[in-house]
Amino acid sequence: MNGHRIASVRGTPLRIPVDFSWLGVKKSRSASMCLVEVKTDTGIVGHGLTQHIDARAIIPQIALAEKAILGLDALANERAWHVLYWTLSGSAQAQYSSWAISAIDTALWDIKGKALELPVWKLLGGARNRVQAYATIGVPGASSEELVEAALRLKEMGFTSFKTQVGRPGLDHLKGQKPLRDIIREDAKRIKALRDALGDDAELGIDAQCRLDLMHALELVRLVEPYGVDYFEEPLVENDVLLMADMRRRCAMPLHAGQSEGLASRFRDMLINNAVDVLQPNIAVAGGFTQCARIAGLASAFNTPINGGNYFWHIAHLQAGVAAGTTVEYQTGAAKACEAIFSSLPQLNGDWLEMTDMPGLGFEPVPEFVREFTIT
Ligand SMILES: [Mg+2]
Repeated sequence: MNGHRIASVRGTPLRIPVDFSWLGVKKSRSASMCLVEVKTDTGIVGHGLTQHIDARAIIPQIALAEKAILGLDALANERAWHVLYWTLSGSAQAQYSSWAISAIDTALWDIKGKALELPVWKLLGGARNRVQAYATIGVPGASSEELVEAALRLKEMGFTSFKTQVGRPGLDHLKGQKPLRDIIREDAKRIKALRDALGDDAELGIDAQCRLDLMHALELVRLVEPYGVDYFEEPLVENDVLLMADMRRRCAMPLHAGQSEGLASRFRDMLINNAVDVLQPNIAVAGGFTQCARIAGLASAFNTPINGGNYFWHIAHLQAGVAAGTTVEYQTGAAKACEAIFSSLPQLNGDWLEMTDMPGLGFEPVPEFVREFTIT
């Protein structure tokens, strides 16, 4: 009936410099992301994105995907998702295919919203019209003093909830690393400094990004016990479901996980094993809005909330849209990278983001900025 057929799919690898001096941290890094543009034969253009340590790795997947979904109904997102999954993955693996599917699926939801003149969060269910943000003070290599400075600036901006990284470099650097025991002791000192600076009322979480083993994760929980840490995100290597379930039985600190997962069945396994308190499906990694809506439905059936990030303005649509949604992560580096390429991003009011009625995602990449940060 309709003519909204997929006419082209294009991926652009970007590297965007991010300066943290606005947070009082003398560090600059770059954010790597792959921006995907999908066009329909009716002239609607949608955009999605995904992250990767080198976004160029995603481009061959996007090219394969284009061949598979050209001519499909752009509004039939479940059908497109199915074709993408079996074209790019078709096995028990996720990884690159999941990243590529995430970006394309997000672009298709942007198109669906524009075609139907509705924002994505309403298409997903419109559970709430504003979402609260939490700020991640995640600047690798920052000193305790710099972290405190950054936290105080974010507090001044209106944030009341904070998260910081622990366990770096942890298990990901096997040569010449410090013992994990020393790493978590330094973490505990940083947590104490942050709690002292932020006061007792602020929510403060920690995130090991899957870099600890069970023994050291439990030891870190014990070390930070006096500082009122509110939750522990992705404490254990591989998000090992059975170990997380064990950890959850052995400590009172709530566990969050799932930000880097690509398969819905992994989230199911976390739920049926009572491994987590909060699930974190990430639209830029898990397979876009289509897959995250499935995971959010699973979470609802287990009366378990979802939250997370890291592309704040994109993921706000998920958190606002679905019943299980709660808070959205304002990851300072990723947020600045998005501000560098997108126009008309809605601004926070304190730590709340009011959702708008702009169709689709409600914001657009600026072509000249995209060109400036494109890598070859
Ligand atoms: Mg995380």
